[in-house]
Amino acid sequence: MQFNKKDILDMASLSVEEINLILDTADQMKEISTRPIKKVPTLRGKTVILFFYEPSTRTRTSFDIAAKRLSADTHSISASTSSIVKGETLIDTAKNLEAMRPDVIVIRHSSAGAPHLMAQLVDASIINGGDGMHAHPTQALLDMMTVREHKGRIDGLRIAIVGDIAHSRVARSNCIGFTKMGADVMVAGPPTMMPMGIETLGVSVTHDIDEAIRNADVVMMLRIQRERQESFLFPTLREYSITYGLNTKRLKNAKKEVMIMHPGPINRGVEISPEVADGPFSLILDQVTNGVAVRMALLYLVLGGARNADPD
Ligand code: ASP
Repeated sequence: MQFNKKDILDMASLSVEEINLILDTADQMKEISTRPIKKVPTLRGKTVILFFYEPSTRTRTSFDIAAKRLSADTHSISASTSSIVKGETLIDTAKNLEAMRPDVIVIRHSSAGAPHLMAQLVDASIINGGDGMHAHPTQALLDMMTVREHKGRIDGLRIAIVGDIAHSRVARSNCIGFTKMGADVMVAGPPTMMPMGIETLGVSVTHDIDEAIRNADVVMMLRIQRERQESFLFPTLREYSITYGLNTKRLKNAKKEVMIMHPGPINRGVEISPEVADGPFSLILDQVTNGVAVRMALLYLVLGGARNADPD
């Protein structure tokens, strides 16, 4: 199959076939990271700009490593060290970056839609590294890769997504992605952190975490996104942790082979206890490992990889 997308903006714009191709390519890419020399010449001479307006540990580092493992050159820009602090608009910044002829721009921005705007302005491929509360497609893809790797499939699985659903771009992208791939998704969280109309994404809703995890094959815990809340939407963190936190006691009622995931950063002792985060059911660090493979696959595919030869 050919991959004809110039940009990776959200999960809604990817077809089932495209998602499968990305996951299959990522499976192949993963092996490169296990070699003593973790580098192939596939994207030699290509330029990738990492343009992060919001803080990031995993996504930015993962893209940087992914690009370098494929021999592309990377350049990082952050809001605090760029001309954004001097008042330059996103449109002017985009035009100036384009004038330097990059091949890919990975952008993270606090405003929903910023990557979509950028994609209309520049010839380079745009990959969304997270835009406001809207989308985080590369996180959803690495989550799918991790589930498929451990369960052998996505279709027919029950996925519980628990926490601050309203402010989470990860939740939104995973609801769209997992339901598209045939999973049964249930979201759980306090009413104050549940967006109106989330059911329209084809998911079911509960405010009871125990109900959500009882039959789940995968439980995905989310951080409370306090930076996106005007006031705290729960009386206290302690109460939140008691009512919505995942701990060993609560996990006893889950399926025997349940998988625990979290996109990070974790707030230990709030949404997830250290015993669960570091316990035998946790795939949190597998997600991070797979993030590099998924991002290698995406860089390769948007630059025309599926139309050319094998990555190595
Ligand atoms: N790292 C994820 C994101 O950027 C999740 C989080 O921040 O809680 O959306």
